[in-house]
Amino acid sequence: MRSQLLVAGVLIVVLGAVFYLLEVPLVFFWSVPFVIGGGIMAVASLFMAESQGPVTPPQGYRFCVFCGDPVKIGEDRCPRCNGLQPKVES
Ligand SMILES: [Zn+2]
Repeated sequence: MRSQLLVAGVLIVVLGAVFYLLEVPLVFFWSVPFVIGGGIMAVASLFMAESQGPVTPPQGYRFCVFCGDPVKIGEDRCPRCNGLQPKVES
């Protein structure tokens, strides 16, 4: 279950319902798509895995600041793009 998506979906359903009930000009037309889309998001979130958080480089490596490839810590240059790596403070 992906809780952020569930919250977002529920919020959109509520927003769509408010648009519909208040008959807000211009956005009234969007109230039904909002309710349907938000409902799909909320239902889909129940079947999706929780997000994994930030990607971390393998042990002893860091990501190249230019191309994002893993570079061994202590290497001056990236083997892929030859970009000069900043000094690692440790
Ligand atoms: Zn690189």
